[in-house]
Amino acid sequence: MLNTAESIARSPFPALAESFAVRAARAAGIAAEHAAAVDSEARFPQEAMDALKQEKLLGMMVPEALGGEAASAGQVVDICYALGRACSSTGMIFAMHQVKAACIVHHGMDSAWHRDFMTRMVQDQLLLASSTTEGKGGGNVRASEAPVEAADGRILLVRDASVISYGAQADAVVTTARRSAEADASDQVLVVFERKNYVLEKTGGWDTLGMRGTCSAGFGLKAMGTPAQIMPVPYGIIHSQSMVPSAHLMWSGVWAGIAAGAVEKARKFMRKAQRAGSLPPGVPHFVEAQANLRALRALIGAMLGRYEACAHDEKALAAIDFQTAINLLKVDASELAVKTVMNAMRATGLSGYRNDGDASIGRSLRDVLSSPIMINNDRILSSLTTSTILSDVPSTIRD
Ligand SMILES: Cc1cc2nc3c(=O)[nH]c(=O)nc-3n(C[C@H](O)[C@H](O)[C@H](O)COP(=O)(O)OP(=O)(O)OC[C@H]3O[C@@H](n4cnc5c(N)ncnc54)[C@H](O)[C@@H]3O)c2cc1C
Repeated sequence: MLNTAESIARSPFPALAESFAVRAARAAGIAAEHAAAVDSEARFPQEAMDALKQEKLLGMMVPEALGGEAASAGQVVDICYALGRACSSTGMIFAMHQVKAACIVHHGMDSAWHRDFMTRMVQDQLLLASSTTEGKGGGNVRASEAPVEAADGRILLVRDASVISYGAQADAVVTTARRSAEADASDQVLVVFERKNYVLEKTGGWDTLGMRGTCSAGFGLKAMGTPAQIMPVPYGIIHSQSMVPSAHLMWSGVWAGIAAGAVEKARKFMRKAQRAGSLPPGVPHFVEAQANLRALRALIGAMLGRYEACAHDEKALAAIDFQTAINLLKVDASELAVKTVMNAMRATGLSGYRNDGDASIGRSLRDVLSSPIMINNDRILSSLTTSTILSDVPSTIRD
């Protein structure tokens, strides 16, 4: 059996011989070093993204036959958590990239164009951005305005992409669009455009309270490609089977990571105070922070288990109960993450409130406040009204 050093030396991609956790920890270390500057300068976390590419983590979900590592959703969520702890923006960029990767991996295997693209995702460590928000439509992902126009064997899409995170830095944009000019707004396709296929004209900036490094500016997107770049499955199916489950699990992983980072700061603050001989008045909030973080991790872990158990079962994924649960995960995880960071702030008192010092919680709080509005929780709850009215209230505890 090879020892680790030998297997690393023999691997064509040295990083691949090591576990995801080891590689993610190295990238997270670099992300943490630059997190404060990324936030204060509202800049793209270039160093952390270079590290993630160096560790070959951007193509981790691609099947082995195409050069990837066939990573599971759980393995990606673990990395989201590790990165979220270090730098929220890096974590969220990684999560948004992997959501698009999951859509292509799950639904692109029957398309030669997308198989080739997946190979290049691994080889070139392509960074994928997402465009769903359009015009003033906000987070209504299941409706598109701009249609795909087809002529002379080419396709054209001109879209008011009012939010595209790291649009300026990405190697490809994966976008929803109306199937054709005649189609209904909800008759959508998902299209992969590579950088050489599009031009972006900046239409808005990204000067926000938190998540400042995601650089989620507005752009006019003008893309041209071939019909082969359209995913072979209707977007409606991709949305419920891959996009929503992956987004809600991976985003939640990042938010839990942000919460964990804040709780860790509070823990260090408490330890220091304990050693100095007296615990601060905020100690009950610290206990609550720990309990809320545990509940948050358990919530995500349970939903991950459920998703992985039915990942290849289209009927189970489409079931109203699963769809309700995966939508509620986003609402519950984001609210709990905000609560946990707020607990950490209250636990650390003035030290947490200050922007300087080791116990400062401000950045975590500003970042995590993006979670309930990243597709507004109220929008999600309203859209669940019908399914929740139709579902029976469980008659036993372990249902
Ligand atoms: C950190 C972060 C990263 C994001 N990254 C991406 C991304 O990469 N790609 C992407 O497509 N989307 C991205 N989004 C946007 C996100 O997907 C939602 O579109 C956004 O959070 C709005 O959600 P909402 O419409 O449910 O809620 P609200 O923000 O509460 O919106 C309510 C309503 O306000 C109106 N509205 C929305 N935007 C405008 C506007 N600019 N001017 C006037 N009215 C408006 C709409 O009618 C909307 O329905 C990101 C959001 C966040 C917070």
